[in-house]
Order: sequence, then structure tokens, then C-alpha cells
Amino acid sequence: HEDPSFWKDHNVQVIIRIRPLSSSEISVQGNSKCIKQESCQTITWTGHPESRFTFDLVADEHVSQENLFKVAGLPMVENCMGGYNSCMFAYGQTGSGKTHTMLGDIEGGTRRHSVNCGMTPRVFEHLFTRIQKEKDIRKDEKLRFTCKCSFLEIYNEQILDLLDPSSTNLQIREDMKKGVYVENLKEMEVTSARDVIQLLIQGAANRKVAATNMNHASSRSHSVFTCIIESKWESQAVTHHRFARLNLVDLAGSERQKSSGAEGERLKEATNINKSLSTLGLVIMNLVNISNGKSLHVPYRDSKLTFLLQDSLGGNAKTTIIANISPSNCCSLETLSTLKFAQRAKFI
Ligand code: ADP
Ligand code: MG
Repeated sequence: HEDPSFWKDHNVQVIIRIRPLSSSEISVQGNSKCIKQESCQTITWTGHPESRFTFDLVADEHVSQENLFKVAGLPMVENCMGGYNSCMFAYGQTGSGKTHTMLGDIEGGTRRHSVNCGMTPRVFEHLFTRIQKEKDIRKDEKLRFTCKCSFLEIYNEQILDLLDPSSTNLQIREDMKKGVYVENLKEMEVTSARDVIQLLIQGAANRKVAATNMNHASSRSHSVFTCIIESKWESQAVTHHRFARLNLVDLAGSERQKSSGAEGERLKEATNINKSLSTLGLVIMNLVNISNGKSLHVPYRDSKLTFLLQDSLGGNAKTTIIANISPSNCCSLETLSTLKFAQRAKFI
């Protein structure tokens, strides 16, 4: 069920998701862990010095895809049905569970209720159910919805269309009427969760090909799936319009990109990844501060990712960060770094 308290205090919600130990981690380190969950909101990093963190939610390995959707996905759909923009980010080092969280097993589809089916398919399954319900209730107003999706990748500060991989280096434009948008980005109309899954599969395949062609691991790029939900209805002989943007972002791996020893393209790439993740952190931190009454500059334009999402971050928009971590001792320092990033996004 929807939890109306989810967005109560802040427009930014931060969730930690701990994945289970993998069999290779167990074979190297046994069952030893670098974290200890204290409650559904607190977690302790057990290295030196021991550090305790508090978040909106700490989801351990037993929290299912379905339950995570209920906590974080449902309120986001409701927010969009109300005409507000939303962003969900999966943050974390490579292998921490970002793609598992955002997509999970998509080949299985949602109808068969694969337990591993992730956030995005579940969100759209629910969105279309909600749209149908709303249309039934508001028959007299001739309520109509149009949902258009796009899927892009940002690699090395360049935008590539994952639904039309021949479109590379797309440009962000700003327009008084349209707001911020990507010029020439392909938009596909969808009418069911199945349509969306089709696009997700197509985009994921293109992402792999793009990574091979550009000689990088897809973990070094951000992927952004966006749906623009437009509704139109009539009341008292007037036609009303409403737009909401829903953005689901699988971020580049947050592991420290080595810039020492790197040269040329590799150095540029490392710098760009570090910069765009730290800009995202700074933008969110400043937004939280602003909602607490401070007046601050928000550096949206310092990275393609934040510039692109400018209209969906801040104002009435809602943001959810799912910071994914491995509990293993092998990943101790990266896990600490993720917890610190997540903490900065939340409390100042
Ligand atoms: P990332 O996208 O951050 O690089 P992945 O989502 O690919 O990481 O996850 C790495 C591996 O761990 C995958 O095999 C994935 O299925 C598994 N995994 C991640 N999170 C979970 C989870 N919560 N439960 C079970 N397996 C998980
Ligand atoms: Mg991934």
C-alpha cells in the first residue's frame, strides 16, 4: 500500500539496499561483513573508526523486489499521477546491485511475477493499472493519457540514444515552452508495461553494443529511462493538460575511477565519471538545503546528467536515491564511500 509519509519531510528520500553476499565473496572472505544493520533506518559500518548512519530506509538482503517497489515505486507513481516529476537513481559501485534493483530480471516480464523483476517494470505495470482506474472513475471528463518513453546513455559527457544507437552526441536544449530536453531523441509511445519492457530490452542490448564499440564497460556510463505522462481532460467546457516526467536512472559505478597513471581518453573518462557523480551529490545536497530554507546556487549545468534532469530535480519534484552496497569485507571502503555519499544527500 502507498505510504503517504514517504515524502512527508523532504522531497529527497534515501534508501540503502544491501545485496546478499555473493558466492565468490564468501569463498574469499567467508561470511565476514563490513556492515551491521541496526534497525530499518540505521546501519553501522564496522571498520575503523566504526560509523553509524541513519537513512529513510535500510533494506537488507531479505527485502524483496516487490517490497522495495511498494516502499519506493508506488509513491513515485502516485506522484506522477498527480502531475509532478520524479527521479529515481541507483547509486553504488559496480556489482553492488544497481541494475538488479532498477531492471532485475526483465526477460521474465511482470505478468509471470518473476520474483527478480525489478523496479522499472513494476513501476510501469502499476502506472498503467492506475491510469485505467483513473479513466474509469473520471469517464465524464473524457480523461486521456499519453505516455512517451525515451532511453539514453551518458558516457564521457556525451549523450547516446539507446532506442536509436545511430544517434550519438545528442545535445541538450532549453526552451521556454518545453523546458530542458534532448534534441532529436527518439520518443516511443507506450500503452502497456509490456511495451515498456520491450524498450528496456532493446535499450539494454544497444547499451552493450555501444560499450563494445566505444571500448568501455557499460558500468562507466549512466542510463536514463524517461517517461513523459501527459493527461488531458475536460471540465466545464475547458480542456485541461497535465505533464509529468518519470526518470529512472542507473548510474555509472561509483568506485573511484583511477586517474593516476591514466592518460588521454582514459583520464578524461575517469574525470567525467567522478565529476558527474559528485555534481549529482552536490545538486541533491543543495536542494535539501534549499528546502530547509537556505538560499544556494544549484550547479545543474556542471554535468550533462544534472542539466538533463534539471526540471525533475528540485521544486515540487520528488527524488529517490537507492544506494546499493555489498555487505562483504572485500568491498569495505567502497561501501563506506557509498554510505557517505548517501548521507550527504540526506542530512547536512
Ligand atoms: P551493478 O548493476 O551495480 O553493477 P548488478 O545489479 O549487476 O550490479 O548486481 C551484481 C550481481 O549481484 C548480479 O548477479 C545480481 O543478480 C546480484 N544481485 C544484486 N543485488 C541483488 C539482490 N538484492 N538479491 C540477489 N541478487 C542480487
Ligand atoms: Mg549494472
